[in-house]
This record gives sequence, structure tokens and C-alpha cells, in this order.
Amino acid sequence: MSISTTANAAVSELNQGPLRGSGLRRLSLPVACLALALALGAPAALSPIPSHPHPAWLKGWRQKNPIWRGIHLGLSSDQQAHQLLKELPKLAAVGVNVVIAEVDYNFDFQSHPELRPAHYVTKARARELARKARECGIRLIPQLNCLGHQSWGGTTGELLAKHPDFDETPGQFPGNKGIYCRSWCPRNPDVNKVVFALIDELIDAFDADAFHVGMDEVFIIGSKYCPRCRGHDPAKLFAMQVDALHSHIVGQRHLEMLMWGDRFLSAKATGYGKWEASENHTEGAIDLVPKDIILCDWHYNKRADYPSVPYLLGKGFRVWPSGWQPLEAAKAFSAFAHGLRTSENNPRLLGYLCTTWGKVRIPQAAEWPPLVEPLQIWK
Ligand SMILES: [Zn+2]
Repeated sequence: MSISTTANAAVSELNQGPLRGSGLRRLSLPVACLALALALGAPAALSPIPSHPHPAWLKGWRQKNPIWRGIHLGLSSDQQAHQLLKELPKLAAVGVNVVIAEVDYNFDFQSHPELRPAHYVTKARARELARKARECGIRLIPQLNCLGHQSWGGTTGELLAKHPDFDETPGQFPGNKGIYCRSWCPRNPDVNKVVFALIDELIDAFDADAFHVGMDEVFIIGSKYCPRCRGHDPAKLFAMQVDALHSHIVGQRHLEMLMWGDRFLSAKATGYGKWEASENHTEGAIDLVPKDIILCDWHYNKRADYPSVPYLLGKGFRVWPSGWQPLEAAKAFSAFAHGLRTSENNPRLLGYLCTTWGKVRIPQAAEWPPLVEPLQIWK
């Protein structure tokens, strides 16, 4: 099954519209090789911090929720946080038990205030959200998009704008013309110091027991313009970044880690397009990263089947199928995943995640058909 050129173009348009990127996705920060960081001595980035303080709540949540019914939203200001605060009970009422809040650089970072944009979420509001989510039985998982998506259109995200030496293609592509999005360099040991500090602040502010690192649609990796990465295997570079994040988030902080799954899929082998699967040789990373990472396997087209789901399950990962809109495509993906979970009785197929990408505002999220209808079969 192959996606047509038209479909690819449609996905491209979607990704570049006010959807997949708008405001949500201009930021992220990466990580780099933990081993290298250790070798170079990065105590600030690796300082031990207690794990989340609510193990009893999490244990109870797991017992009550064998199925994950989630929504992914952009959260870039206290105003939006206030909207989400009011929406959480409504989301719980339609069955949502996980909210992924993509904050990226839109936070009141104290460790790196130079990265704060004009509007951001404050720590007080994040704490308020965390409390309310727990009251509603919802796991609230913050996200900082790492490695790729460091620019959107002509705008470079805060990390590379303020630290241009972190760029995988430093000085290249003025105005971001000719590229999809910038990436940071996964072999620059200084990146970890910054990114881990930001992740720690988000974990603490959101009182998080899991963290989503993004890492989707990384088109620039192992660039000829990077003296560190030039000539290196993209799969190994990608895995190095994943491992570094995992070492910090799972190893140091004892949280669960989630990420998008597209770079682990071969576009050629699966028939998916180059956004939802890889044409830039990163797919071999699937055999190089820890199996306890939750892979959010996103696909937005209506298809007869979705071969990535059984493939990633077969590799031993927990897989969270993630749809969007239009409604018929979301229902098709949800139904496929539900059928697979039922037929194979495989609890590593977690449930269904609805992404929104600017197509619905937070105050209307709990009424959005592409959220409500695909979730109905998972109750
Ligand atoms: Zn590099």
C-alpha cells in the first residue's frame, strides 16, 4: 500500500499549515550523547532530582486505566493554561485519561531565561493544572520537542535563535529557505546542559510522572554542514539523541518517556509518506534504543491498514496509535488499532491518542468529533 503523491502533498500541506506547527512546534531542545556529556563532565545537567512525588496516585491510575485515551494539545501561555484548567473536567467526562501538553520553549524558564518568548506558561499555573488533572483522574504529560522542529517557516525557535552554535547547519539556509525545519546537533555536548535543565523545570512544574520528547519529522541529521556529524550514520545519530534523553528522563528522573515514532519507520517498507516515516535512513535506530519508551505512532490518512502498529509492537515497544483529522481517517485508525488490541490481546497497544494541531481550540476540545468519536470504542 503506498500513499499517493497527492496524499503526500496533502500531508505536507497539513504539516506546514497552521496545524502541525502553528505556534506549537517551533521549539524544542535536544539532548546529546550522555556518554559524551559524562566524559566532558556536565554536573549541572545531570544533577540528581527526586522522582515525581505521587507514586500512589500513579499506581491507582494504572490500575484504573489499562487503556490510554489521550489528547495532545499545544500549551503556550497562561491564558491557554487557564482554558485547559476549565476544560479538564469536560475532557474527563468524554473519557480522556491522558493529556499531552506541548509546551516547548513557552515556559517561564529560570535556568535559561534567555529562551523565554513573549508569552509563556508560569510555574504557578503549571502546578495548578497538575493538581486539577489529578483531581480529574488525568495524567498530564508535558512535552518539549527535541532535535528537529527547531524552526517553523521563517522563524527559528528560541534555542537555536539564542544558541546558533547548537544548529546542525550553522550559518546555512538564511531565512530557513529551502528546508523544512532546523535541527540541533546531537553531537554537540553543550546542548544537553541546556535541554536537560529545561526538561527538569517542566517536570518539576507539572509534577510530571512522564515526559514526551517529540523527535518527529527530523529531516536534517548528519548534515554535511556539521563538522561533528558529517558522514555519520543517521540511525546512530538519532539513537544517540534518544538514548541521551532516556538516560536523563528515565534513568535520572525515573519517569516514563514518550516520543513520536515516525523516524523508526521506513517509508519504503511501510508505504507511508516521508513525514510519517523515514526516507533519511533513521529507521535502523529502532534496534538501538531502550524498549521501555512509549512510541506515539502518528498517521493522519485513512488507510485500509496501518502496518507500523504491528511492526513497532513486534519490536517490543509500547505503542500509542495517534490520529488527527479528518474524522473518517481518525475513526479508521482508531478502529484498526482497537481491532488489533482485541485480536491479539496485547496490552502494549495502549489505546488511542487524538492530536489537534490547531484545528480545535482548547475550550471546544471536549466536543471535537475527531476526539470524541474515535475514543468511544476504547471505553
Ligand atoms: Zn552535528
